[in-house]
Amino acid sequence: MLLGMVLPLWVPGEETKPAPMPLLLVQSFVNTWDSDHGSDLLLDPAAARAWLTQAGLWNAERPPDPAELHLARGVREGIRAMLVANSGGPPPPPGDLLPLQAVARGSRPALQVSPGGQVSLGPGPADRPGAALLTLLLLIRDAQRDGTWQRLKACGNPDCRWAFYDRSHSGAGAWCDMATCGNRIKNRRLRQRQR
Ligand SMILES: [Zn+2]
Repeated sequence: MLLGMVLPLWVPGEETKPAPMPLLLVQSFVNTWDSDHGSDLLLDPAAARAWLTQAGLWNAERPPDPAELHLARGVREGIRAMLVANSGGPPPPPGDLLPLQAVARGSRPALQVSPGGQVSLGPGPADRPGAALLTLLLLIRDAQRDGTWQRLKACGNPDCRWAFYDRSHSGAGAWCDMATCGNRIKNRRLRQRQR
């Protein structure tokens, strides 16, 4: 854990390798699925709404519907496949990127100029309530341009695939965290034995 660093409440799990904001949002979105606990924050509409709202990604007066959640989970796994590539794995299978491409096709981002002269691209009026996924895509675009994207990776343990931010000097880190990843494998073996 980085000493003195307080993470927002919406960051899932015990995150020891957090990405800088706002890329932390993409990392946390990927980690809404936890292979260790077999838990998924994007399965139940009420739970998904709670998490997305906390993370500032949802402001509709209703929870996401099943189709929206299905698309969100597809986008999440597409991003995970991209993070596997970032950690030296194969490029994402084309099928895995279809949900992201669907979001890109269906969105109409809007260019805005703030009173201070800051030019930004964000979800347009027509993008509600799917703005969460478009927002994540725009964050990925920014990270790909500023060079932080390559450091957001999926754990090299195929049973884990937790998204972590590689702050190592070499940028060659491949594992989420020795202690927690080891525990994940141990817990899984224990559960398998108990079954
Ligand atoms: Zn791991």
